[in-house]
Amino acid sequence: MMAVSYNPWLVVLSIALAALDAYVAFSVVGRIARSRGPAAVLWTGFGALAMGSGVWAMHFIGMLALEVPIPLGYDSQETALSSVPVILATGATLWLLARRSTHAGAVMAGVVLGLGMTSMHYLGVHALHIRPSIAWRLPWVAASLLLGLAGSTAAIWLHSMIWRGDRRHRWWLRVLAALMLGGTAAGVHYLGVAAMRFPAGAVSLEAGIGLHGLGLGLTISLVSGLLLLLTLCASLAHRQLQRHTEAIARELGQARDALSWLAYHDELTALPNRANVLDLLDRLLPLAQAEQFEVAVMFVDLDGFKSINDTLGHDVGDEFLRSVADALRASVRSRDTVARFGGDEFVVVLERFRSEANLVAICRKILSLVSRPVTVAGHSVSATPSIGVAMFPRDGGDAASLLRHADLAMYSAKEQGKAGYCFYQPRMSELARDRLLLSAELREALQREEIVVYYQPKVELASRRVIGLEALARWPQPGRGLLLPKIFVPLAEGSGLIGQLGQVVLRQVARQLAQWRARGLPLVPVAINVSLQEIQDGHFVAALLGTLREFGLPHDLIEFEITESAAMKNAEHTLRQLRQLEALGFRMAIDDFGTGFSSLSHLRQLPTQSIKIDQSFVQGATRNPADRDITEAIIALARKLRLATIAEGIETEAQAAWLQEAGCEIGQGYLFVRPLPPESVPALLLQAAVHPAPDAANG
Ligand code: C2E
Ligand code: MG
Ligand code: MG
Repeated sequence: MMAVSYNPWLVVLSIALAALDAYVAFSVVGRIARSRGPAAVLWTGFGALAMGSGVWAMHFIGMLALEVPIPLGYDSQETALSSVPVILATGATLWLLARRSTHAGAVMAGVVLGLGMTSMHYLGVHALHIRPSIAWRLPWVAASLLLGLAGSTAAIWLHSMIWRGDRRHRWWLRVLAALMLGGTAAGVHYLGVAAMRFPAGAVSLEAGIGLHGLGLGLTISLVSGLLLLLTLCASLAHRQLQRHTEAIARELGQARDALSWLAYHDELTALPNRANVLDLLDRLLPLAQAEQFEVAVMFVDLDGFKSINDTLGHDVGDEFLRSVADALRASVRSRDTVARFGGDEFVVVLERFRSEANLVAICRKILSLVSRPVTVAGHSVSATPSIGVAMFPRDGGDAASLLRHADLAMYSAKEQGKAGYCFYQPRMSELARDRLLLSAELREALQREEIVVYYQPKVELASRRVIGLEALARWPQPGRGLLLPKIFVPLAEGSGLIGQLGQVVLRQVARQLAQWRARGLPLVPVAINVSLQEIQDGHFVAALLGTLREFGLPHDLIEFEITESAAMKNAEHTLRQLRQLEALGFRMAIDDFGTGFSSLSHLRQLPTQSIKIDQSFVQGATRNPADRDITEAIIALARKLRLATIAEGIETEAQAAWLQEAGCEIGQGYLFVRPLPPESVPALLLQAAVHPAPDAANG
């Protein structure tokens, strides 16, 4: 038998290479597991090639480390072929590992890899073509096979613990498993070499012709090492990319969550929104039907909220809305839903309330809690709610009709003086339908300029001289007489027709004045009523000037009476328009003074020359002390601000006398003349003074 020995450096190199192999192969497992389709196949192939060729290179170096006294050579084809089983086995193993299979799977993967390693070794040795043949020590052969199977299985089982174990220990587990697998590969090789006995006089038939030499061995190991390094780098880069992708996916997920929250909530108050309530009712109503429990919908709208926004700014308005949300939530049970539909509109959905009386109690609670003044940014702010209630199934069988009817009931509550509640009644739907019909008719009437203007004189109380006229719109209805503005002006405001109405009235007045002037009548200024909503429309001033130019009228023949029936939306813009009117020489009065929400603050801001005392005070002044006090206070205030006062709605001599005594200079009312059709005005203009109508004088 020949004596054999080992080159220790090459032995160490071969073992290190095997361990590095195993480490890289294991690090590819995660990549395979997280990839799909072709990418997974590619990573498996890559890993198999890297590790398979690594084990194979290790074997080659291991053989070079073997120092025998005869020259050795390797059949190149067989040597290349010997790498196939280990590459295939590694591929299968990686694939199995990536499936995160059970213990049985780990054992199977270990067996496949062990077989691949050992068969590669013995095929590799066969490529030496030793003659006479090597005498094998069978126990060593068996030991190498056993080590291949057991070592691979143990290493793979250890690696499979990575998925189950703590994240922090993963790296150590992988290194340990890699060392174990590397050791196994090397162990299989050196046990296999130890199993060989070279008979005396044995030669390698490949010596001098096949592959041989240290340089070749080192080249092979270098190439294999490079391949390993490449795989390792690719694996690391891939992991980085994957982390990045995961981070993006996470952010996308968060954005999606935020978006879906926004789709179902109101951002300002964090309350559910309209879509949310519709969803809720769609789910709740069938259940209520089946289980026979009650559901009610309340529509809550704040009275005069827009004035808060306009006078104190949107930040205060927003904060106030949040406090209203809190007050509403405090008014109901936690199982009830409080939602915001936008603006100052809130909706409450109540389920399983015991009785209608219960709902009334809840309405009262909402009224008292929401009406409470709150301090926002140093201001004491308050607004009352108007509430409309609709009940399921009596007032509507589905979400849409319940909400619509609650809304109508809320409108009724507003009409009945605000700060209250109304339960839905079918009559309200009829009224709404009528309103809709009437607004369509009004649109047509305006297009055909069917609105006519009546005139009521303004009289100097001392002399009873007519010093001006007020233009009052009338809508003739075929067969039904004249429709009064208290019906159609709010309708026009609600349906966006108020601007058009204003234009029609202005043209009629201008045409009329031009006619009277042509007839040589002594003219007095005509006051036209405008609501703030009309002036908000950007074209107001331009249209006015155009019309006056068309009829050749001077500015001092037209005056304006401004009412605050609708809230001022764009305060800055409106004020600019009013100042422009003032600069152009138009006189303005605040109408119905004493009834508007923020008359006093407007008085400070609006460029007016006179105020008209509302007829409710005028008529009350001779009857009750409170109205008398208010009227006196208004007159005193006007005097302080150097504004003229006009008393409207004077019906009796007693009222006229009292007002004159209190210091009011101008009056208007049935006592003098009722609003007249245009054809009756010339006679009036020609009179020196008006005389009390005989029927009104004593009234
Ligand atoms: P207003 O400007 O305060 O007009 C006075 C209202 O009181 C008129 O009602 C007039 O007919 C009525 N009135 C006059 N004297 C007496 C009286 O002695 N006793 C009583 N009880 N009432 C008297 P009218 O014509 O029904 O107009 C109601 C409101 O409609 C007006 O109140 C005004 O704000 C608005 N309005 C009228 N015409 C127009 C218009 O062309 N455009 C706009 N935007 N609003 C208009
Ligand atoms: Mg008026
Ligand atoms: Mg008035």
